[in-house]
Amino acid sequence: MVLEAIRNGDVLRVFDDITSEIIIQKDHLTELDSIGGDGDHGVNLERGFLQVRSQMGQLAGEDVGSILTSVGSILMSTVGGSTGSLYGASLIKAGSVCKGKSELTAQDVPKIFQECENVVARLGGAKPGDKTMLDVLHPANEAISKAARESVDLVYVLAEGAKAARLGLECTKSMVARKGRAMYLGNRTLGNYDVGAASLCLMIESCARTVKAIDSSKTGENA
Ligand code: ADP
Ligand code: MG
Repeated sequence: MVLEAIRNGDVLRVFDDITSEIIIQKDHLTELDSIGGDGDHGVNLERGFLQVRSQMGQLAGEDVGSILTSVGSILMSTVGGSTGSLYGASLIKAGSVCKGKSELTAQDVPKIFQECENVVARLGGAKPGDKTMLDVLHPANEAISKAARESVDLVYVLAEGAKAARLGLECTKSMVARKGRAMYLGNRTLGNYDVGAASLCLMIESCARTVKAIDSSKTGENA
């Protein structure tokens, strides 16, 4: 048996686990951001996701689209800066492709990632190779689309996305920043990860782990 869909409540668990991951990685993200940016990426994301976690009671029972849109709005208003706008606007738009759905299938995931990529590219004007979160989002999106054409297994689709995200993040080390605050450092950004690419990679990996855990608990129930 493969996991073909998760329920709206599982989507909340995905965000709850991302919140825990951001808390764990806060200092690491702050350290990365203090190389190329203003050192607030970890603390800003933590503030945003803690707010998301505090609203989960109200979001319980909402459809997947409303959950994504609400999480996006919360991040937009609490994270601040470019990070808050890019993550916030992406999730608000992603919510529109899942409107009214009580389940999320493997076929929905590439639609979500495509919307997010469109929003980030349009809002930020960056291209792959500019050392931004797009260098994780674009390869993850491509891998997810390919995996979803091959399989209905949500665990597989997200695992492929997480693998591509990690490879994309590694590639940012050899790039020179051409967008965001890090741009002003030019060649001095060589050798370091892009902080937005790093946080996005951690979120995608967390999401893949949560969906795998949901699958394992279901397999356990059916055994
Ligand atoms: P802030 O401190 O205002 O949140 P930064 O300029 O430090 O913003 O950017 C944070 C992260 O957001 C970057 O590491 C990068 O991944 C992403 N980012 C910033 N500007 C852009 C852009 N124009 N296009 C795509 N991503 C961007
Ligand atoms: Mg910053």
